Amino acid sequence: MKAKKSKRIPCSFCSGELEDTIVQHPYRWKDKIYIFENVPAQVCRQCGEKYFDASTVEIMERTVLEKIKPQRTIRVPVFSFGQLVVQTK
Ligand SMILES: [Zn+2]
Repeated sequence: MKAKKSKRIPCSFCSGELEDTIVQHPYRWKDKIYIFENVPAQVCRQCGEKYFDASTVEIMERTVLEKIKPQRTIRVPVFSFGQLVVQTK
């Protein structure tokens, strides 16, 4: 009898192997970024692309839409790349 393996879809970018793990995910909605921590995901061992279950994505979407109170809020510095090039000359 064959061992029953759950069939894994390879990475759609590089066909690499996906690994179950926990990630931090920046979720963009309109002009804001919401950081989700401890998110179950599958990550490509080769290129690092993250894949989420439909239910996981739905939870993140609902959290943002329903404006659920976050655990904490952080300030994020924003840089314009062109400005950096000028400054480093
Ligand atoms: Zn990949």
